[in-house]
Amino acid sequence: MPTETFEFQVEARQLLQMMIHSIYSNKDVFLRELVSNASDALDKLRLEALRDDSLGADVSDLHIDLEADPEARTLTVRDNGIGMSRDEVVQLIGTIANSGTAKFLRELKEAEDGAATEGLIGQFGVGFYASFMVADEVTLLTRRAGESQGTRWVSSGAGTYTVEDVEDAPQGTSIVLRLKPVDTEDQLHDYTSRWKIKEIVKRYSDFITWPIRMAAQPATTVGADGDSDTDTDTAAGTDADAEVSGAAAAEPETLNSMKALWARSRDEVTDEEYSELYKHISHDWTDPLETIRLQAEGTFEYQALLFIPTHAPQDLFMQGYKRGVQLYVKRVFIMDDCEELMPSYLRFVKGVVDAQDLSLNVSREILQQDRQIQLMHRRLAKKVLSTVKDMMSAAPDRYATFWREFGRVLKEGLLGDFENRDAILNVSSFATTHDKDEPTTLARYVERMRDGQEHIFYLTGESRQAIENSPHMEAFQAKGIEVLLLTDPVDEVWVDAVPEFDGRQLRSVAKGEVDLGTEEEKQEADTEREKEQQEYADLLTWMTGRLGENVKEVRLSSRLTVSPACIVSDTHDVTPALENIYRAMGQKIPQVKRILELNPKHPLITGLNRTHTERPAEAGLEETAQLIYDLALLAEGGELADPSRFVRLMADRLERTL
Ligand code: ADP
Repeated sequence: MPTETFEFQVEARQLLQMMIHSIYSNKDVFLRELVSNASDALDKLRLEALRDDSLGADVSDLHIDLEADPEARTLTVRDNGIGMSRDEVVQLIGTIANSGTAKFLRELKEAEDGAATEGLIGQFGVGFYASFMVADEVTLLTRRAGESQGTRWVSSGAGTYTVEDVEDAPQGTSIVLRLKPVDTEDQLHDYTSRWKIKEIVKRYSDFITWPIRMAAQPATTVGADGDSDTDTDTAAGTDADAEVSGAAAAEPETLNSMKALWARSRDEVTDEEYSELYKHISHDWTDPLETIRLQAEGTFEYQALLFIPTHAPQDLFMQGYKRGVQLYVKRVFIMDDCEELMPSYLRFVKGVVDAQDLSLNVSREILQQDRQIQLMHRRLAKKVLSTVKDMMSAAPDRYATFWREFGRVLKEGLLGDFENRDAILNVSSFATTHDKDEPTTLARYVERMRDGQEHIFYLTGESRQAIENSPHMEAFQAKGIEVLLLTDPVDEVWVDAVPEFDGRQLRSVAKGEVDLGTEEEKQEADTEREKEQQEYADLLTWMTGRLGENVKEVRLSSRLTVSPACIVSDTHDVTPALENIYRAMGQKIPQVKRILELNPKHPLITGLNRTHTERPAEAGLEETAQLIYDLALLAEGGELADPSRFVRLMADRLERTL
């Protein structure tokens, strides 16, 4: 195939433009990204060679090579890993597959200031494209293991790239960066400087499990003209490179220690090292919010190093989001996204689990049935939840970040994970009428409960404002009783599945009868209620008959103070919002009839009762009954079955007021 020129996908082009103009201040990370990709490619080759004998790839010395040429101003990152086919190069390098990208780029456009943009880039991570922060041209030469044809990809990052076939490419991938010019004095950003490269590798990639090697520079380029590399090395007080200036320095040096951080004790590892491992695993450029270590000893030995990110990824709620941690067996990488180790509601947790007693050939099918894996899954989930619990008291700000980013996902656990239900409830926070800004835990809510209050009250809805203005809230507001305001879609579902917290029922203020106040108040209310009940008995029977198609009962309300009427559900009935969710999931469920409650103190209702008693045959009574129902439906944000009839009736009534 001849050389072809391609255009980058629109999103890729946008991202490249940002890289070329280097809005990210820490340019050193480009090397971390390339080394990280190379390391993944080595992992993949090793696994594929295990699975497929006929691959014919040499896996005896898998490693990463770095090569700097100060004169040509190039830096080469080479691996003898899996490589890419021509199609893969076009697919993987020319486009951005990440499903959250579109959203990310939209936000990026909206972010006006540099710091915000940089933060967003950091959350997203840009991988290979980070090369264009430091290079004005990048050449990628690659051959996929098992294929004979190699591919060369060249681009300056500006709109297009070329792809051509290459006959004699070595297996794996080499990436040659033609570095942008730097000030000769600028040691800090000279990426051909041996000292600089070593420093970056040490800082960001030390834990990589494959050797990262760097050939000693030939003696001819060192010395006479005052080679800066050796000078800097001396200046930095390291002596490891002493041999560089010697002509015999042919042995490549391995720059990383390759130590598995999860197998080392806490005091041997710095926070920065943990952070860098996290970044390698997660492709996130931001430090993790929390690092969790777990060392299980005994018959089934394993180590886990888990991370809670600082930001929820853009695609956390999209289908196909890859969850799970990396699985290693005895320090050897086995698979990414091992979902068997983490419940879905903790899908944002990243990290490594290294098990001592699994087979290196372990497959997903085996994992799904393995009892040890199930035990690990349980233990890891508990560990994450207990870490969040600790965070609540030890680092409230970090917990607040956690909850803002991941609360919505965590609450999914209230549906399926019965064993950890209390643990999840204990680390959950909810918006509340008690405080406009600060969410509350259930424990705090319970502490504040009024004398005589038996239940934990909540209301679900679209937004805080919609809930606060709902007629269902009136009596609670009047009596100053705290109500939790639940606005996440998942809230509709879990509240139905969780009967109680700390022995108190969770009760929707839009369901069942309300019965508020102290014993004394309740008794008073009961007496008054009885009186009203007699006064309204006929009206209620009549209205129940009239509106029978829509409601199963019309009754008097004790939850309204301002509105004439509202619609409520029976305590154990499905709410309309939940009905909608089930329907959206394709489940057929019958429409549940609800209850219309009337406010016996509202002039509209007292007037209606009077007319109904005095002139039961009065034309218009039926219309009024219908209108009251429609108004109640509108007040809770519901949709009218027949809006045009409503408009007609309303217009007619308004006309009569003029
Ligand atoms: P990410 O690493 O976040 O997926 P990149 O843009 O860095 O994004 O890389 C895109 C894809 O290109 C990788 O997922 C991988 O499939 C492929 N790739 C990149 N570098 C290499 C490499 N050195 N060897 C083999 N494949 C690579």
